[in-house]
Amino acid sequence: MTLHVLGSVNIDHVYRVPHAPGPGETLADQGYARGLGGKGANQALAAARAGAAVRFVGAIGADGGWTRHHLASTGVAVDHLAQVSEATGHAVILVEPCGENRIIIHGGANRALPASLIDAALSAARPGDWWLSQNETTRVHESFVAARAAGLRTAYAAAPFDAAAAEAVLDGLDLLALNEGEAAALETHLGQPLAALPVTHVLLTLGAQGARLISGAPGARTVLEVPAFPVTPIDTTGAGDCFLGVALAGLDHGLEAAEALRRAAAAAAIQVTRPGAAGALPDVTEIDAFLAERA
Ligand code: ADP
Repeated sequence: MTLHVLGSVNIDHVYRVPHAPGPGETLADQGYARGLGGKGANQALAAARAGAAVRFVGAIGADGGWTRHHLASTGVAVDHLAQVSEATGHAVILVEPCGENRIIIHGGANRALPASLIDAALSAARPGDWWLSQNETTRVHESFVAARAAGLRTAYAAAPFDAAAAEAVLDGLDLLALNEGEAAALETHLGQPLAALPVTHVLLTLGAQGARLISGAPGARTVLEVPAFPVTPIDTTGAGDCFLGVALAGLDHGLEAAEALRRAAAAAAIQVTRPGAAGALPDVTEIDAFLAERA
């Protein structure tokens, strides 16, 4: 089967600065790094590194050719990654010596997906495939409606959190993924506990406390607890994206939920011990070796 990811591609421009520039100030940086980011790209890369067949559905600008190459060279199919006239989505990140960040996000191509993109991508999908999306692109709600009608299983990461966007797509989802903060915000917004939501599975990640999968019809739920592996983290950026991508890779491969989520916990445990997000994702060999060591 295939995991289709409708999601964002972001170019992260990270500048080390002596201090945040004041009004009218021009400031020389003390270092620059460029990286591939975006929740969609990170989740797609996590799943592909874990061995899934992954197709990316999204858009970049003329400046984003290297991001297409990065995805493709990791094994992600990019035949439905459109090129549009807007700039590739990007983040300008200023990092002060104390570690404080100031970030500007430009949605760009992520917010300008062509109208024909979803139908074109779904024409290449098969019933039973997974369709995964988040909140960093346009066309998320309409894509879930069309994917469900085409017989695909649907998964949604409620991030970056937007209460109205989450509420709009909940009904009929196969899997809703959220972290603790997103879960609390959604419960407050809806006035309902997670277990009452109209979705088949709720995947709640709890950082170093592990994860919880709440499954079944409301009123007849089962709960699977997935412990985190004890490690010493150095950078937890993107842990949730890694966990979700690897979990869906396992489910798409036909693994039982407990096994798919154990692999996801192993992958995320490896990832948090390395710096960065996309560049820190483990591959299938590393996940297998970690699990063999911890067995
Ligand atoms: P997000 O990045 O979306 O906030 P979480 O922080 O909940 O997501 O982390 C996702 C998963 O990553 C957790 O369920 C856990 O398996 C793993 N993880 C995160 N932090 C740690 C940690 N300090 N040690 C081990 N595993 C971790």
